[in-house]
Amino acid sequence: MTHESPVCVRCKKNRPVMERIHSGEKVCKACFLKEIEDRVRRAMSRCKMAGPDDKVAFAVSGGKDSTVMLRAVTSVHGQLLAQQAKRGRAPVAITVDEGIAGYRDESLRIASEVCKELGIEQVVFSFKKEFGLSLDEMVSAAADPATLRSMCEGDGRRGGQLKNAMKVVGKPCSICGVLRRRVLNDLAAGLQATKLAMGHNLNDEAETFLINLFKGDVNRMGHAASAAMEDDASPFVKKIKPLQDLPQHDVVLYLYYVGGEFQENACPHARENVFRAEAQGILNGLEAGHPGTLFNIKKFLDEVFPLLSRPVVPGTISACPRCGAPKSKALERCMACFYLDELCGKDYRRAMDGFLDRHRGTST
Ligand code: SF4
Ligand code: ZN
Repeated sequence: MTHESPVCVRCKKNRPVMERIHSGEKVCKACFLKEIEDRVRRAMSRCKMAGPDDKVAFAVSGGKDSTVMLRAVTSVHGQLLAQQAKRGRAPVAITVDEGIAGYRDESLRIASEVCKELGIEQVVFSFKKEFGLSLDEMVSAAADPATLRSMCEGDGRRGGQLKNAMKVVGKPCSICGVLRRRVLNDLAAGLQATKLAMGHNLNDEAETFLINLFKGDVNRMGHAASAAMEDDASPFVKKIKPLQDLPQHDVVLYLYYVGGEFQENACPHARENVFRAEAQGILNGLEAGHPGTLFNIKKFLDEVFPLLSRPVVPGTISACPRCGAPKSKALERCMACFYLDELCGKDYRRAMDGFLDRHRGTST
């Protein structure tokens, strides 16, 4: 450490181990961990993320964000979670095994180990077991020109307001995102959770904002704002994002200092999500040249989201005839039913209900 700062500027006691990028302060490990947990605590309290009557379902993939979320929230709110457990609302971790070769196996192991270490019940849902195909197999099936044509031309999804959605039909991240979001929500609901905790960090929030901005997708931005405002009218289990104020590099540093393991490899399909990768590049460049840009974007979002909030207009949605979930009126089926039907020849509702019945049978 430098000659001028033999001790941490905050506790004035310990040896500093790092310099904070934005403030330039040289701080020790304990003060860094405290800062991170304080930020998680403040975000959770500002957004009223959890109370004694809640039951929290944590989405835990085993990646760095979800493991930090689980570690930080159990450290900050251990008492609250114990209080919930006493009322029969013990937290649960949901892990979705999409079936991505060379990637998911390692994160599944890490997810199971961290849940075990922290004493959180874990429920693992496998696409291959429940839907009949892994994500990789669904991606191969969707790559068949005939299947893709019938997928794109069915359900009246030609042109109009679905033009943007059409461009991604059958792409790995579309199939994965649609099915994982539904599985997480439906499992959380089926397990009586009132909150679904996601590991999205500050970079993710800023990236999503930038993508919606660059695509001119006011609707999506309005829905993101509405979700951030904890809109009560949403038909889905409320999502909470305890890491929303933490930049990615702090998430990684936190894990390094608490000694937690995490998966370093990126998903092999991530490079196909070109738009997000480019948005990441822009933000990383801006943050490197102008530290604090990410915080400024978040500050801006916190100010303007109340003005942008755009709950789903009842006239634009209807219930999916197959599974009952809300869907765009322009589609015949919801996207989860669409993918399961077209790619796996399965009924989404039946697969999910079957899993929940089996789980209840084994967990009672
Ligand atoms: Fe799924 Fe795409 Fe993320 Fe890979 S990068 S886990 S395919 S959403
Ligand atoms: Zn459906």
